[in-house]
Amino acid sequence: MFKPVSSRVSFPKMEEEVLEFWKQNSIFEKSVKSREGKPRFVFYEGPPFANGNPGIHHVLARAFKDIMVRYKAAKGYYVPRIGGWDTHGLPVELEVERQLGFSGKGQIEQYGVEEFNKRCRESVFKYLKEWDALTERIGYWVDLEHAYKTMDNTYVESVWWALKQMWDKGYIYQGYKVTPHCPRCGTSLSSHEVALGYQDDTEDPSVYIKFSTRLKSGQETEALSRLRRLAAEKKTYLLAWTTTPWTLPGNTALAVAADAEYAVVEHEGEYFILAEARLGPSGLDASGVVDRVRGRDLVGAEYEPLFNPHDFGIERRRFETRSDLVVQKPEKELTYRVIAADFVSMEDGTGIVHNAPAYGEVDFQAGQEQGLDFVHTVDLQGNITGTYPFAGKFVKDADPLVLADLKKRGLLFKAGTIRHTYPFCWRCDAPLLYYAKQTWYIRTTAVKDAMVNGNKEINWFPEHIKYGRFGNWLENNVDWGFSRERYWGTPLPIWRCEKCGGTECVGSVDELKNKPGFSGFREPLDLHRPYMDDVTFSCGKCGGQMKRTPEVMDCWFDSGSMPFAQLHYPFENKELFDKETKQADFICEAVDQTRGWFYSLHAISTLLFDAPSFKNCICLELMLDAQGKKMSKSKGNVVDPMNVVMKHGADALRWYCYTSAPPGLVRRFDIRMVADVTRQFLLTLWNVYSFFVTYANIDKYTPDASRMVTDVPELDRWVLSELNELVKDVDTQMTGYDPTGAGRRIEQFVDDLSNWYVRRSRRRFWKSENDTDKLSAYNTLYQCLVTVAKLLAPFTPFIAEELYRNLVCATDKNAPESVHLVDYPVADESKIDRDLSLDTHLAMRVSSLGRAARAQAGIKVRQPLEKVCIRVPSKREREGLERLSAQVMEELNVKALEFVEKAEDLNRPGLAACTEGEVTIAVPKEIPPELIAEGMAREIVHRLQTMRRSAGFEIADYINTYYQGDEYVRQVMDDYADYLKQETLSRQFAEGPAPEGAYSETHKLSGHTIVLGVKRQD
Ligand SMILES: [Zn+2]
Ligand SMILES: [Zn+2]
Repeated sequence: MFKPVSSRVSFPKMEEEVLEFWKQNSIFEKSVKSREGKPRFVFYEGPPFANGNPGIHHVLARAFKDIMVRYKAAKGYYVPRIGGWDTHGLPVELEVERQLGFSGKGQIEQYGVEEFNKRCRESVFKYLKEWDALTERIGYWVDLEHAYKTMDNTYVESVWWALKQMWDKGYIYQGYKVTPHCPRCGTSLSSHEVALGYQDDTEDPSVYIKFSTRLKSGQETEALSRLRRLAAEKKTYLLAWTTTPWTLPGNTALAVAADAEYAVVEHEGEYFILAEARLGPSGLDASGVVDRVRGRDLVGAEYEPLFNPHDFGIERRRFETRSDLVVQKPEKELTYRVIAADFVSMEDGTGIVHNAPAYGEVDFQAGQEQGLDFVHTVDLQGNITGTYPFAGKFVKDADPLVLADLKKRGLLFKAGTIRHTYPFCWRCDAPLLYYAKQTWYIRTTAVKDAMVNGNKEINWFPEHIKYGRFGNWLENNVDWGFSRERYWGTPLPIWRCEKCGGTECVGSVDELKNKPGFSGFREPLDLHRPYMDDVTFSCGKCGGQMKRTPEVMDCWFDSGSMPFAQLHYPFENKELFDKETKQADFICEAVDQTRGWFYSLHAISTLLFDAPSFKNCICLELMLDAQGKKMSKSKGNVVDPMNVVMKHGADALRWYCYTSAPPGLVRRFDIRMVADVTRQFLLTLWNVYSFFVTYANIDKYTPDASRMVTDVPELDRWVLSELNELVKDVDTQMTGYDPTGAGRRIEQFVDDLSNWYVRRSRRRFWKSENDTDKLSAYNTLYQCLVTVAKLLAPFTPFIAEELYRNLVCATDKNAPESVHLVDYPVADESKIDRDLSLDTHLAMRVSSLGRAARAQAGIKVRQPLEKVCIRVPSKREREGLERLSAQVMEELNVKALEFVEKAEDLNRPGLAACTEGEVTIAVPKEIPPELIAEGMAREIVHRLQTMRRSAGFEIADYINTYYQGDEYVRQVMDDYADYLKQETLSRQFAEGPAPEGAYSETHKLSGHTIVLGVKRQD
């Protein structure tokens, strides 16, 4: 006997019982361990942060990870999978700053780094319980107990080792470079972090500034002397455009395009110099042009600084060589000059570009190349320094004050606003500022070709990521600025000599401890700040004291090091990593990781091992809310995945994730879609399962290989053919990392199984005699359900387990105790009959067209008809239908099939026809009286069956039936007595009122009133 299965099911409740079973019996552990010694399938878990609640998109990622690793385990691979947590970096620090009400680094320093980092360490796992609970509840099988943490000493030491390898290869350097800097976080961002935070439609000032020329006589071009004569007549200005007024005090040059035409134009008693092509857009009238010069002729022209830095207590430096910035003496009559540069565009502005080497990458480069002055007027918090009228203001707040000052002095030509795309800090939303400062870099550009080539070996799902998002990112590679002027992170293992400036990189704790003059070490070992800041040793070159450079590492370097750092490689597990886990077979995260984790894994692996880090990657697109908006806490549209699971179950949510859209498409999450999935797929499957168990228990059916039927009926052969084809297809799709295709394929099979096989077979299970036909039906449906359970195990692990445990374990004491311990099904190709499959699908199509023709004629399906007329395009199809004629006739409730040659033959009065493609079906509208009577008998059966259910009878209960009606009704009852009794399990059919305690209903059938009563026979 199978455990009885009600058609009413609570999936969440069923799943909780399965979870309990898994836990009690350590099924996950067994599923890994039982495949030990088999080929390994390497999976890397991308570490999330556990300092926030897990969201619905985390379920999406975990669902796609879990399905592939479960599938590979079922295919016989050894698939250990270890969880991991990202623990370092700004998100943690920001959270602690919020808790403490801090708004900047000054407060942290005051509070004390030791105490601050202690709080960071505590905050890291604030939501660990929620993460663990969700992970377990959705059936994501990963070892959480031994999860790696990027803050562990062993992990940090491996990261140090990695950096030391790069150091030894000459990949690490400290550069004075313009980097994107977050003034709030007080640290640089890497270019992949910048890419995460662009915001469209940002409003900024759009201003035209007048730079007063000071053209001296002397060695000058003919064009400049013309300009000087003009300037003697009227005040003459170079006109430049900017969207960042706060950078104007840092201006040290104006750049022109050498080949462009520039005009001198008169406007309200002054002369302006700007590109002729930009006259109109700048609001100047071409009729006022008094002279024209080439851009190259302007080079060397001098102008007055808007703000002489020496008047405001600011140092002025100059690029003497590419790397040295030498402090310059104060100069009362300071002038700057016009330079030519190829970045000057005629697309916006005036064709004269304001250049501030401290605040832009191209500006900085121009400074290096042309030996420009370098004036830096902003501190790391983004506040203006010096004694400017706007000193102490945050740069964006200083903008209007800078403009007001210039306006007062008559140097502002025009001011407006512009909407454009501007980068913001992806963590804290502060506008990023481009600053020149010293940062540590990894020379990733040195291995760019190797990274590009390595990418060719990676299979991306979807494929377009390969040469799209990821490939482009690699093609445009820039060196990785990996140091952060922060607190909670892996400290840079680089020490600098206070005396000679020499640097050393340390690759392990032992190496550090063995340095000459090593001191400042505290027990117990903690490789974080501030403890590492106190460690000093003696300089190998001059004996001076070595102090650690204060920065910590970009946390993307941590997560990209997880393949080896989780194993404390190379200090431990050397052989395991070198021989087995150096490269992942599979990883899966969201598409934003192309510039995050996917990149850091790939870059680090290429730098260290000259090979890509992973072979296959499923890249998930965004999950939006039901209206297509990004989910965010502030909008209040965040979906709590636990609520969805509590309502519909984890299987439903997982199935939705797999089948609603391929992973590479943006999806809108709507809980109603999860409800649809439950209804359309899970309940359909459940109903078939419940149907089988109910009848199998009535007939005391037990699966037994010795009772296989030799002469299998066609319907059974058909569904077994479909089943084996399904197994083959699903396996192919899963091997190709396509759970969506595979899931949809299973869905289609379950639909056919329910709506064709089971529906067509109902009578075979229902009938009283236990013949071979019935046995074959049981064997067949049993095999379908068990195979589908095994196929579904990686997709919907709970319902799969429920089916398997009841169908297999209940009858076979030797079977593995869980569906997750059995191998994935293998197709028996000898069972696949393509012709039968094609014919049956045609029969299904013909049946559905026939029903449509009936509906058109207004004839119910239960009304038998003499015939149906069919037109199919080929002889093969006609023969196929003839072969299945019994099924088609029964399905359409007709006595005969009549084939015709031409579709036109079916378009005549007296027939109702329906056409789809080249198939036409027609039914006669006229019905002979004897068939009308038969139709009534069928209708009565249907009503009685419904009444049996309403009365609460069991399917196998025998009943007595009572009826009252007119002469016609009595005649039908007499003529079809045997049929009626058999179909309704009635011992007797008596005319007259039903006795006390019977269940009665009155029906009106084809104009005849009939009173029916049913009573269970005791
Ligand atoms: Zn920030
Ligand atoms: Zn030294």
